Amino acid sequence: MHPQPDWSAIRADFPILDQEVNGHPLVYFDNAATSQKPRAVIEALRTYYERDNANVHRGLHELSNRATDAFEAARGKVARFLGAASAEEIVFTRGTTEGINLVAQAWGGRFVRAGEVILLTEMEHHSNLVPWQLLAERSGARLRFVPVLEDGTLDLGALDALLTPEVKVFAFTHISNSLGTINPVAELCRRARAVGALSLVDGAQSAGHAPVDVRAMGCDFYAFSGHKMCAPTGSGALYGRAEVLEATPPWHGGGEMIVSVSYERATFKPAPHRFEAGTPNVAGAVGLGAAVDYLEAIGRERIFAHDEALALSALAKIETLPGIRIFGPREQRGGLVGFAAEWAHPHDLTTYANEYGLALRGGHHCNQPLMRKLGVPGTNRASFYFYNTEAEIDRMMAILTAAHGFFTR
Ligand code: PLP
Repeated sequence: MHPQPDWSAIRADFPILDQEVNGHPLVYFDNAATSQKPRAVIEALRTYYERDNANVHRGLHELSNRATDAFEAARGKVARFLGAASAEEIVFTRGTTEGINLVAQAWGGRFVRAGEVILLTEMEHHSNLVPWQLLAERSGARLRFVPVLEDGTLDLGALDALLTPEVKVFAFTHISNSLGTINPVAELCRRARAVGALSLVDGAQSAGHAPVDVRAMGCDFYAFSGHKMCAPTGSGALYGRAEVLEATPPWHGGGEMIVSVSYERATFKPAPHRFEAGTPNVAGAVGLGAAVDYLEAIGRERIFAHDEALALSALAKIETLPGIRIFGPREQRGGLVGFAAEWAHPHDLTTYANEYGLALRGGHHCNQPLMRKLGVPGTNRASFYFYNTEAEIDRMMAILTAAHGFFTR
């Protein structure tokens, strides 16, 4: 269906991967935490700082105009990348966490009232949980949760009872960062709309990993982080449907977001500038735009198929080890595998792996309530991106097999 790109040439775009850690070739399987950066993105940052750097929007000089053009061009690229109707629907943020806090504080602060309901799921990352807890505390709203079933999918049968007309917002992750579950986001958005609730999709694990079209999805908000999709840390964006974003009041006050200011009060710009107070992360946005170009040249369908194949292969191989519990669905999963070994604490196994150059993650993955529900202190997670290879999975298996021998000796 989609012809395969030259994955090994693509891997060569990532200089960081070519190194040894503790005397062994680096195997980087911590991509769900943050991805590595291709030369195209590193070069875009370098060029920006060597040629164009200035503050945006306020200058009437050449460099400021160039910086503004580059910043706004990146906004256009992100809009296209997400399938937004226009660049005005894209607010630059520091990442997913900031995007969700913006919605919870600014939109939620105005529209969510005591007694109303914020619906979440049991698999949310802390960044799609704690901002809503804060809003609930301030507003007197209540939190409800869609349960996670044994197989790591959402209990959609429970939705009718949970998604009642008191629900003001339904916020859920697209792809779970610890289970790998891919949620049926279009259906969830449609169900939210049917009761008059807004929907927010946490796209941290999907933006750079799967095709995303916010209009086809039908969401009101979609938040993602640049650093998980080849862009610099501290970059990211929030998509807000024009009508909803326009009704949302500002949250941070300062320069850039005003039309006029007196000592007593201020009037504000339209979206998205109303939500971008102060000097923005211009270089981050430029790097994000370069990452979008880079990912689009490969194609997210291909990236998704590649990462899913690695995850399914890793899952089948990890499962052959004794005393292993795998979390999340058996098929149709994002590019990661969460597992727990009954013979080693996740931290100890991760530390052991590091001795052999393997970067895994071990812990609660910012999913503490979910870990409690699963009855584990944490899990190990191997998470993949398009530059990872089957040979690296085999290397991981050799290390995990040796770890089993070590911890059970
Ligand atoms: N949501 C999910 C599902 C995540 O995996 C993460 C990061 O791991 C976040 C939100 C938070 O992203 P960030 O720390 O980049 O804001």
